[in-house]
Amino acid sequence: MRYTILTGDRPTGPLHLGHYVGSLRQRVELQQHHDQTVLVADLQGLTDNGQNPEKISENTLNVVADYLAVGIDPDQTTICLQSALPALAELTMYYLNLVTVSRLERNPTVKSEIEQKGFERSLPAGFLVYPVSQAADITAFAATHVPVGDDQLPMIEQTNEIVRSFNRIVGAPVLTECQALLGKVSRLPGIDGKAKMSKSLGNTITLGASEQEIQAAVMQMYTDPHHLRVSDPGQVEGNVVFSYLDAFSADPEHIAALKAHYRRGGLGDMVLKRRLNEELQTLLAPIRARRAEYLADKGELIRLLAAGTQRAQAVTAEQLSRVRQALGLALQ
Ligand code: ATP
Ligand code: MG
Repeated sequence: MRYTILTGDRPTGPLHLGHYVGSLRQRVELQQHHDQTVLVADLQGLTDNGQNPEKISENTLNVVADYLAVGIDPDQTTICLQSALPALAELTMYYLNLVTVSRLERNPTVKSEIEQKGFERSLPAGFLVYPVSQAADITAFAATHVPVGDDQLPMIEQTNEIVRSFNRIVGAPVLTECQALLGKVSRLPGIDGKAKMSKSLGNTITLGASEQEIQAAVMQMYTDPHHLRVSDPGQVEGNVVFSYLDAFSADPEHIAALKAHYRRGGLGDMVLKRRLNEELQTLLAPIRARRAEYLADKGELIRLLAAGTQRAQAVTAEQLSRVRQALGLALQ
């Protein structure tokens, strides 16, 4: 079965290893057999950076270079820019009428992000409603599948509520429901041991990190605070180094043996960290090199983004027109 896939990233910083295992790695596989669109979500990035738009504009091409560097192929995947697709903003306006403020306030991901960003009374209205703009993104492409990390599951749920509500009101199946595609690792912890590696938490290893940055990040990783002497038995659960070895190692049997040895005692943190450092250096060296090559020709990145956006404009405008007709708006 051929899926229609929509996924995307906020250009709030360079992409990192969390994106790689949570979503990018899957996209490279999926593009070969399915219709895939990847959205650089600059409008959504502005919802918590309204005072600081240059952060978004500075990162937009970085994200495109990250995509190409990991192997997303613009001949197989449509790469497009959210702010250049006006249909998405208009759909958001229609859907906002189908969602209550209290429902938005209950969205667990948005709730924890609001707390984490310390918004309190200064919460931007656009930030509270960003799940609705995500519903517009997904439905504008009639996506059936959305590859994401698990922080995005509440967004998929909210999208499907809007789809059902819209279709019920207009009495026709105009919008399509979607499902999440979770990667093998649906949430990579930060290098600080926090639950999620995230651009806004500053606990990332970026795809363009230098050899020294990767090594420094691995060396400062949180392990088991009770594992003081090499001979002590150590804990694997909650140990960030093991979470990363699980996520990135190509040799799960060897990692299982390391875990058993660590639990018994006699295996030092430094041995593990050296092993992880090697794995990450091998993974990231070619990605870093390709990323730098792509970034050296910004004109080409812009041309490529414009070409994908043009294709997406046609698709989203058509879907918008179906929505306008279903709503019975007077001037079509
Ligand atoms: P920000 O802090 O600006 O929100 P972010 O690091 O959370 O940035 P997003 O652009 O919001 O990144 O997320 C893009 C995609 O990457 C989403 O599908 C998200 O689920 C996935 N993702 C982000 N961080 C991780 C992670 N640590 N583990 C797994 N998936 C992740
Ligand atoms: Mg995020």
